[in-house]
Amino acid sequence: MDRSFTHEWPAQRVHFAPGAVAARLAEEVERLCAGPVMVIAGAGERELADRVVGQLPDVTRYEDVVMHVPADVAERARAAAAGAEALVSVGGGSTTGLAKAVALTTGLPIVAVPTTYAGSEATSVWGLTENARKTTGSDPRVLPRAVIYDAELTRSLPTDLSMASGLNALAHCVDSMWAPSVDPIDAALATEGIRALQDGLPRVVDDPTDLEGRQATLYGAYLSAVVFSSAGSGLHHKICHVLGGTFNLPHAQTHAVVLPYVLALNAPNAPGAAARIGRGFGSEDALVGLQRLRARLDAPRALRDYGLKESDLASAVGPILAAAPADNPTPLTPDLIADLLRDAWRGADPR
Ligand code: NAD
Repeated sequence: MDRSFTHEWPAQRVHFAPGAVAARLAEEVERLCAGPVMVIAGAGERELADRVVGQLPDVTRYEDVVMHVPADVAERARAAAAGAEALVSVGGGSTTGLAKAVALTTGLPIVAVPTTYAGSEATSVWGLTENARKTTGSDPRVLPRAVIYDAELTRSLPTDLSMASGLNALAHCVDSMWAPSVDPIDAALATEGIRALQDGLPRVVDDPTDLEGRQATLYGAYLSAVVFSSAGSGLHHKICHVLGGTFNLPHAQTHAVVLPYVLALNAPNAPGAAARIGRGFGSEDALVGLQRLRARLDAPRALRDYGLKESDLASAVGPILAAAPADNPTPLTPDLIADLLRDAWRGADPR
């Protein structure tokens, strides 16, 4: 890897604050403003928000959260935020994503309290979906000014969603190794992120109440997101964005299914990256390490299990090729992408 590089650190304060999230949130909001705050938390996250916003003086609540941030949902939230001086998001990546969509046009600062392992809170990446097409971009205005993690808030996340969400974080680490702007600092953080997720995820799956396992997973998820924000989207993320935006597939599960196929495709032509991924898993071989973890977790296997039809696959090949990084380690062809999609659709062994 090139040792001549410039690395930009995100301008963000991060708290790992088990048991103290309400107090940290009140301090962070006080730093930002004295006026009204709009708290965004989806209906399924209402109870989590109730637990953390009690010390905020002037709050309006907003619950109309939809996955992949449809443009009309973002417009309604922007209108509702008129008069607010800051945004607080309490929830998963969809909720953080809606807060980002509001910040993108209003410039309002965000304090994020994540309740899944998606990691959106630590990136400058926003996403919006319109006419079945997901558009993403990067803008410093959408990066939350502060993030407050408390693993206790993830305890109610169902085990299968916890696992898929953690595998989504793992995908940030793995895909960053060949992403367009990866540098040695990203690679080091990604390797540590893989290690933390491999440590935490099996414990979460074995015992969903295991707070230490959830803390390790949150730590890994945070690292994964910092890396993703710095290194950019590699092929894996481009594939998942096309599939998610076009066919409305569940985000985390799509990442969980697709990752081994992209690793199998790229590892032979990216030996340095593969060695670092392998080190994260504690395995000589990156794909063996990933597949061992996936087997241990009984991870999602096939896109067809999420409602995707085989006849849909062909229409995704062109948009994926158009979006894929030009310097992907393995040169891409329509046939390679079509094979990868077909294998991921039926859950075949990665080739
Ligand atoms: P999600 O936010 O859609 O949440 C899934 C479900 O879990 C929702 O019903 C939610 O209400 C519920 N939930 C959340 N936390 C819970 C908890 N602790 N207990 C019980 N239920 C809980 O799913 P996600 O995987 O967190 O996020 C997916 C979205 O995030 C996608 O739109 C994706 O594109 C986006 N994302 C963006 C980035 C970025 O950098 N911009 C990074 C990762 C993900």
